[in-house]
Amino acid sequence: MPYPFHWFPADGRRHATLDQRPRGGFPATREVTALCGRELTADDSAEGWFWPTCRGCAPETRRIAAAHTAQPPLLFG
Ligand SMILES: [Zn+2]
Repeated sequence: MPYPFHWFPADGRRHATLDQRPRGGFPATREVTALCGRELTADDSAEGWFWPTCRGCAPETRRIAAAHTAQPPLLFG
């Protein structure tokens, strides 16, 4: 099961968001709410994926991932 957040490049960093992501990724100029609390305009350039990870978003994704995997499997509940 995929994690409920998505990574996206914006403003020179790779941020994560819980916003609904369109198929194919966020288009450039889309306003996205990042987990670090900032409203950012998505960047769809290829080099954006090589930008450093946002220091505000990274710990939030770890917290969400930990909570996500801690849930008991629904099929065997
Ligand atoms: Zn961020």
